[in-house]
Amino acid sequence: MPLPTSETVLQALQTVLDPELHRDIVTLNLVRNLDLQGGLVTVSIRLDSMGGGKKAQFKQEIEEAVAQVEGVTQVVVEFTSGLSMLAGHGNPKKKDEPLPPQEQARKDNPLPQVKHIIAVGAGKGGVGKSTVAVNLAVALAREGLKVGLLDGDIYGPSVPTMLGIGGQKPGVEGQIIIPFKVHDLVAMSVGSLVTQEQALVWRGPMAHGAFKQLATQTRWGVLDYLIIDLPPGTGDVPLTLAQLLPLTGAVVVCTPQKVAQDDARRAITMFRQMGIEVLGLVENMSYFIGDDGKEYDLFGKGGAEKLALETGVPFLGGVPINTALRVNCDAGNPHANFAEGELGRELMSVARALQLQVRLGE
Ligand code: ADP
Repeated sequence: MPLPTSETVLQALQTVLDPELHRDIVTLNLVRNLDLQGGLVTVSIRLDSMGGGKKAQFKQEIEEAVAQVEGVTQVVVEFTSGLSMLAGHGNPKKKDEPLPPQEQARKDNPLPQVKHIIAVGAGKGGVGKSTVAVNLAVALAREGLKVGLLDGDIYGPSVPTMLGIGGQKPGVEGQIIIPFKVHDLVAMSVGSLVTQEQALVWRGPMAHGAFKQLATQTRWGVLDYLIIDLPPGTGDVPLTLAQLLPLTGAVVVCTPQKVAQDDARRAITMFRQMGIEVLGLVENMSYFIGDDGKEYDLFGKGGAEKLALETGVPFLGGVPINTALRVNCDAGNPHANFAEGELGRELMSVARALQLQVRLGE
């Protein structure tokens, strides 16, 4: 009888869903270690917190799935916490060694009152990065968390429009900028300080200065999350960010097409090179739901999920193409997205998957 391999065991584990997020545990990056000794398979699973009964059932599902793999004679399931992971137990993927930019930022942290700083990036423009950043921030606020949104898309700020604060100027007290309080968020954008035309011609040092000022001179107050919408690509602003603020991690947004994957892969590599953990990939414009209620796969749904598996980045979910999403974004009314059944559920689910990854790293 052939012996089990990591591949066959992982395939089996892909059939097991996380009981809270309803996504498979491989995609969610919960499988931390596989130890194969002949027919004996030991599986280590990252687990945050789960009630006793649920945990026992979850364990049983994992055991049953692995037991079906050809050649498996015995299955041992171990649960590890985020903390033991950091101590180096049962973590097969070496955590990226922090590089100097993030070390510096941790030492001089200018925003110690912010618990988690999350950057939202994309390999290229137009994939819906700002849309995801805004809706992620609103979804977290809807969970009762204190959330800030920093529009760091210096060259093309779209957050003022998406929040309905276009043309408004923030208050200023001496050197301090008072952020907008809108849609249960505190928010600040470079677009609120200068015109689009001014921002477009900024070069490296000016963009660096503008981003630094926005990030450190805004009165954010105490926050659970600060979501930062980055410019697309791998330019100066991400590097400034990495040197300036200690990040919990980054989220990369991409569309499903094959050609979009290469750009997303570059963004993942960039964050990792700067010592920033990539907490997840989001597939935007994943599929389209017609008036007939049917799901249409326009761009090849699942491309991002595949990329997530290849790069070892958790997949946080897919956001459908939805006319209401575009209309609500243009109208500056993000909460309305959460009243749209499927769309609201998907947006909320992405935010929950992100929170899970954040908790696992704590
Ligand atoms: P990026 O920040 O990547 O440049 P944006 O978030 O500004 O992209 O989105 C570009 C345009 O596409 C916006 O008009 C936005 O409303 C629209 N859009 C983004 N995602 C979706 C979606 N899932 N369904 C419909 N329209 C979308």
